[in-house]
Amino acid sequence: MLANNTIASIVKHNPKPSTMRKKKVAILGATGSIGTQALDVIRENPHLFEVSVLTAQNNVELLVSQSLEFSPKMVVIGNKEKYSTLKSGLSGKDITVAQGNEALNDAVTLSEIDIVLTALVGYAGLKPTIAAIKAKKDIALANKETLVVAGNLVMQLAKENQVHIHPVDSEHSAIYQCLLGEEQNPIEKIILTASGGPFRGKDKKILKDATKEQALKHPNWDMGAKITIDSASLMNKGLEVIEAKWLFDLKPEQIDVIVHPQSIIHSMVQFEDGSIKAQMGLPDMKLPIVFALGYPSRVPTSFERFDFSNYPSLTFEKPDTETFSNLKLAFETLKAGGNLPCALNAANEVAVQRFLNDEIKFLQIAQLNEKCLELIDFVKNPVLEDYIRTDEKIRKKAAEINL
Ligand code: NAD
Ligand code: MG
Repeated sequence: MLANNTIASIVKHNPKPSTMRKKKVAILGATGSIGTQALDVIRENPHLFEVSVLTAQNNVELLVSQSLEFSPKMVVIGNKEKYSTLKSGLSGKDITVAQGNEALNDAVTLSEIDIVLTALVGYAGLKPTIAAIKAKKDIALANKETLVVAGNLVMQLAKENQVHIHPVDSEHSAIYQCLLGEEQNPIEKIILTASGGPFRGKDKKILKDATKEQALKHPNWDMGAKITIDSASLMNKGLEVIEAKWLFDLKPEQIDVIVHPQSIIHSMVQFEDGSIKAQMGLPDMKLPIVFALGYPSRVPTSFERFDFSNYPSLTFEKPDTETFSNLKLAFETLKAGGNLPCALNAANEVAVQRFLNDEIKFLQIAQLNEKCLELIDFVKNPVLEDYIRTDEKIRKKAAEINL
């Protein structure tokens, strides 16, 4: 009886997709891995979602074709050299066209927008996310770097503006889903799963000569270059630990990481009675994307379903934080707090770029990160300007240091 009542009240509060008001979506980073998958989701659900804004940094050809297909109100290209191509590609259309990253801050405040999907990569996500929150837009957050850099500030602003932040990262979406219906129950801990990336089980002797081609081959996920390298170095998991701290208001000791090579359990929550809830599914980012955009309704999808008989064993192992020291570094910066995670993020963005440019070796990514953290002017309670200053300084140092 009680169970039925509970289910009835949940159903009542969860509008069926068909009765959901159409949501207007702004996509920052529309041409990337998350951006294009979000557009796949919108294309399949035109009765639920509509595109208001599309932005990209460089890929103007794709941005033009996306804009012609989805007819947004506004389109922004970050790289000003590509502006004339965008402008001519969309001439005669009723679409506002803008250039430069400052334009992102205006684009996210358009009055019609319901939700902003932050699918751009790196520190560049911070300012437009803050602008969107101040304009009281809900956020579907893929850009984890925003919370790594300034989690305290961003979550505080979201609270003040009564804005919902829906995680798109698959692990955080899993935790979010496990927490539904548990609002009155404290979390004992969360268990973030990690695939282990392409170098799982390899030691430093082998990794010394790891190439970028090897690092860019992720076993389970097809993602942008930066996050793929971060996955190979376990920095991605480190960034996700910090992201989880802010999203779910946790202490570092409440966050565990376990390597789960099949990427079927996307993460877990352990409650105070010892019970563990897990969220599962095939590794497909469209699932957390459609969950974040459709919340609180689950949108029916045609995605391939998980079949237990195809996976006779789901396995788990401890992460090797000696070989993949970025994960250890992330925990250390999280414990120290202040502007340290911001510095780690800046160092890592430059280190990954230098690795992709063949300037440093794979294992030197973590070495460069560690060296940069020694150069920081520690600020215990940073404000936005401190984060901006830290990012600038560490980025400069990380580009100069010779290992
Ligand atoms: P991507 O490199 O494939 O795409 C990035 C997008 O952002 C592109 O549209 C690009 O034009 C734009 N962009 C790049 N630099 C920019 C800048 N400086 N200013 C403005 N726009 C810029 O990246 P991705 O894999 O889609 O990842 C996007 C974000 O989502 C990252 O923060 C990543 O950590 C997170 N994420 C991605 C996945 C995934 O499966 N790809 C999973 C979880 C989280
Ligand atoms: Mg993830």
